[in-house]
Amino acid sequence: MKIPSKLKRILAQLGLLIIAALIAWQELHRPPTIPSDVYPYLTSLSPALVKQCINENRTSPTIVLEELLAIRSTLPEGEGLPLIDQLKGSVPFSDLDWGAIPQKNQKIVQRHWEILRKYTYYQPGKYRFPVIGKTWFEDSFGADREGGKRRHEGTDLFSKEGTPIVSICRGRVEQLGWNRLGGERVGIRGDDGNYYYYAHLQYISPALVKGQQVQAGDPLGTMGHTGDALTTPDHLHFGIELPNGQWINPYPFLAVWQYWGEHRDA
Ligand SMILES: [Zn+2]
Repeated sequence: MKIPSKLKRILAQLGLLIIAALIAWQELHRPPTIPSDVYPYLTSLSPALVKQCINENRTSPTIVLEELLAIRSTLPEGEGLPLIDQLKGSVPFSDLDWGAIPQKNQKIVQRHWEILRKYTYYQPGKYRFPVIGKTWFEDSFGADREGGKRRHEGTDLFSKEGTPIVSICRGRVEQLGWNRLGGERVGIRGDDGNYYYYAHLQYISPALVKGQQVQAGDPLGTMGHTGDALTTPDHLHFGIELPNGQWINPYPFLAVWQYWGEHRDA
């Protein structure tokens, strides 16, 4: 059978259209690439410094927290203060007189400012602290586990069994139920692209199903000691995995979110 040339043309066009659609679909679903300087900077910030900036920001509301934090986390006090004074006098960040500060250092401050604006972990009210009520936790990221066979890839937050656990952000339920180490666990794919892992729960919220959307503050379950935490005190193991599979230290974020939660109305 001879295919008419008009039909051939249509088929060829249809083929091209399908290829274009496939490429577009792949582009849309590719995990976001994150510049390599973003999380090393964010996780290097000391919670004490962030809290200091939060309080300074309260007394000088003309300053934006990210501007203050970018300056204080990058420059020594003597170089930063004249800039902060200008911000207090309502000079916009983009119009700062940098004085004798070398261009190279100006660029670093500006880069840190960009990171803090785009990756909103330290901005007020963007993320929630995952445990409701009194909690104890310390920075144990990277500590030995199983006699050095693996490293601790998160933060353990201790409280009583049954303490409510909530989602730190908006996202979708990606994992739900039992795994060997985590016990009863919930994995949320945040709208920011990162994977948030809540492990050793006593109970998972019965309302949760895979694929479901959750908001920041939505209940995920209650604290327990399931999985490899069977013989340890009740705690939530909380982890953050970047789209490239790298686990980062959640401790500085948690310390600041807890502070925000306690001082929301201050
Ligand atoms: Zn842990």
